[in-house]
Amino acid sequence: MATIELVQGDITEQHVDVIVNAANSSLLGGGGVDGAIHRKGGPDILAECRKLRAGHYGGGLKTGQAVATTAGRLPARWVVHTVGPVWSASQDRSELLADCHRNSLRVTAELGAASVAFPAISTGIYRWPVESAAEIALAAVRDAVGDTPVELVRFVLFDRRTYEAYEACARS
Ligand code: ADP
Repeated sequence: MATIELVQGDITEQHVDVIVNAANSSLLGGGGVDGAIHRKGGPDILAECRKLRAGHYGGGLKTGQAVATTAGRLPARWVVHTVGPVWSASQDRSELLADCHRNSLRVTAELGAASVAFPAISTGIYRWPVESAAEIALAAVRDAVGDTPVELVRFVLFDRRTYEAYEACARS
């Protein structure tokens, strides 16, 4: 049985095999957690992202998909980049947010990695309400992790409010 845990903290400091990046489809960096990962991980991550763009991902990474690169200077070994959906009040994009978690877990398993840390994908610049994101993220991971050899999934929530929303959802 995999362990699913919640911590408040900075994902760039996590000593796990994989950290997941809430990237944008360009794969060429952005703000929020993406900016922090590239800043602290150094240029090797962006160099691999550029190679991906020059190859299979010429059109960018689609929402819900996931792809791995090195983690550069970070304590983790790999970064799995995934593109969360932008929140929409008029359209239900929940399956795309669940896909981010399922596909990131699948890529983690394909790497042979045993531990992975997720940020609160889509809850920053992409404005997804945090209570809803917590519900979708936790359900997707609980459903999918058993089909993988992944042993540890850690949600790393940057601020107190996000941590408490995930914590409340995990308890309910
Ligand atoms: P998105 O575009 O998917 O909304 P953001 O990076 O804007 O991505 O935000 C996603 C979440 O990541 C937000 O809850 C934000 O507070 C959080 N975040 C920002 N920096 C970090 C970090 N260093 N570690 C963990 N989470 C972070």
